[in-house]
Amino acid sequence: MLELRPSCECCDTDLRPDSPEAVICSFECTFCRACAQDVLGGRCPNCGGELVRRPIRPPDRLEKYPASSVRVHRPERCRAVSA
Ligand SMILES: [Zn+2]
Ligand SMILES: [Zn+2]
Repeated sequence: MLELRPSCECCDTDLRPDSPEAVICSFECTFCRACAQDVLGGRCPNCGGELVRRPIRPPDRLEKYPASSVRVHRPERCRAVSA
């Protein structure tokens, strides 16, 4: 099941499970759209894969299959890519 992480790995901004601003790679590395576009160039800094908009889980499913609450914050990766 897709892990719906609560924040951007780069800037640690909050990404609600229903946010249209969230993007992910195939390994579920999660970023906000601003970082994905402006800092990362559409590529995941961890695996090099493409970043696509995260699908929004329907609210009735979210009750049974809640979003992750574990924040992943790795800003050093993001700087490496933009440098
Ligand atoms: Zn961000
Ligand atoms: Zn990745």
